[in-house]
Amino acid sequence: MLKKLPRVLIVGDGLSAHVLAHRMHAAGIPFFLQGMDTLGAASPAAWGLLNPVHFRSFGLSYGASWYEESLAFYKALEQKLSQKFVDYAPLEHLDARPEALVHWSMAWESELYSFMEKPTKDSLGNVRIVLSQVAMVSVPTLLQESRNYLRKQGLYHQAWFDWPYPDFNHREPIAHAGNQFDAVVWAQGIRSLESGPFKALPIKPSKGEGIQLSTSAQVGDKVIKHKGMFAFQDSPGFWRVGSTYSWHDMRPEPSMEAMEELKARFIELTGINDFALVDHWAGFRPASPDRKAMVGQHPLFDQHYALNGMGSKGLLMAPYLAKALQEEMMGDLGKIPKLCSLDRFTKRLINFRE
Ligand SMILES: Cc1cc2nc3c(=O)[nH]c(=O)nc-3n(C[C@H](O)[C@H](O)[C@H](O)COP(=O)(O)OP(=O)(O)OC[C@H]3O[C@@H](n4cnc5c(N)ncnc54)[C@H](O)[C@@H]3O)c2cc1C
Repeated sequence: MLKKLPRVLIVGDGLSAHVLAHRMHAAGIPFFLQGMDTLGAASPAAWGLLNPVHFRSFGLSYGASWYEESLAFYKALEQKLSQKFVDYAPLEHLDARPEALVHWSMAWESELYSFMEKPTKDSLGNVRIVLSQVAMVSVPTLLQESRNYLRKQGLYHQAWFDWPYPDFNHREPIAHAGNQFDAVVWAQGIRSLESGPFKALPIKPSKGEGIQLSTSAQVGDKVIKHKGMFAFQDSPGFWRVGSTYSWHDMRPEPSMEAMEELKARFIELTGINDFALVDHWAGFRPASPDRKAMVGQHPLFDQHYALNGMGSKGLLMAPYLAKALQEEMMGDLGKIPKLCSLDRFTKRLINFRE
């Protein structure tokens, strides 16, 4: 716990780092953000769905109760940055699993009736559920505007930040770039495996790819289509399709295999066969073995904190967990949910040797 208002260095250049920066800005905590977007980062590749529903398990996902707070955060950030990056649309999910009708009907009756229409079956035998209003955040736009805003305030510097392990055990203010910091928050995504004091965290990179397609086919409705992947017409004739999942492909660049998979899924979801590829991207979700985030103070190096492990739900998780971390750093203990706490990795962090 820090006894006075800490001066905080935030390391990272993705969603987690920028969300934390704006949380700290709003709370009046002095901070400086240093980060560099690198090949393979998750945030620029994010499809952008802010979604409290977990399709695979027929119900609400972990952290669903944070949905309203997260959405309010992004709406307020739009105002602050004078830039729109949140869009809304209904979402149609098709589910071919034999047990889908029973499970989605139960979910609709018990917890999802305010979010979704009653499940039905389509002509091909898929169970069809429609979520009435889902938010999408353009993460690349958010990041670009946030960088511009923070840079103008002298609070952001685009550069890599490194520190030789294990030289983290200081009790003095940390001097960097002419400033003194009391604490460092490492929001590194998968790059924490390579540098910084949190190398021992078991981040599991999960590669995801997406494409943008153009087509002259006329489709009027503004609906997010989902069956394993999402397809959405961002503007007339331009579709965004994503995202793949791979735990094996560690190449940072987009792959041919994923492109073929994405195109096939687009055809299945929309029935459109005539299109051209406009863009193709890839990134690594910073996932964890138990699919929960990794947030909190290092057990040995107490000036160092992690905000990581957002996996595939960074948009839902980051606003809540960044605030919880900030409150914890200010001495308001117990705000970080136990399931997301670094306590579960104490042994690994303490025993880690280069
Ligand atoms: C294809 C794909 C689709 C996705 N779709 C969705 C979605 O629809 N909804 C959703 O909620 N989530 C989605 N996600 C997940 C979401 O993108 C992540 O949860 C979130 O972006 C993680 O953000 P982060 O800042 O923790 O990590 P990252 O985005 O990886 O950012 C870490 C950044 O820190 C920088 N960095 C690291 N170390 C240093 C250092 N030492 N010095 C300087 N800079 C450093 C890196 O270069 C990088 O830019 C998706 C992810 C992918 C890959």
